[in-house]
Amino acid sequence: MCGACCRIKDGIVRVSDDEVARIAAFLKVPEMEFIAHETEIAPDRKSLMLKNRPDGACAYLAEDGLCLINPVKPDKCRTFPFEWTNHDSSTVCPVLEECRAR
Ligand code: SF4
Repeated sequence: MCGACCRIKDGIVRVSDDEVARIAAFLKVPEMEFIAHETEIAPDRKSLMLKNRPDGACAYLAEDGLCLINPVKPDKCRTFPFEWTNHDSSTVCPVLEECRAR
């Protein structure tokens, strides 16, 4: 809940069709409106992703470091860092950094 992984500059949080539906319902906005205003095409053009703020952090990261869509956040967010990491995850995630130090 530190929000460090949500601040990775230009991080990519892909969203599936089901996740789009889930998040749009949670936000009480039509799916097409959510897609148009809150997502963009991922760099590899294989999926949609959540938009990032101008500073590169996720648009749904609140000032207090918590996720504004926590009850419906994408699976990618739910499963980090226990089910997936990437080569530089331990440089941004305090949990992984601590594990690496042990
Ligand atoms: S959706 Fe929530 S948990 Fe996922 S990156 Fe954005 S702020 Fe973090």
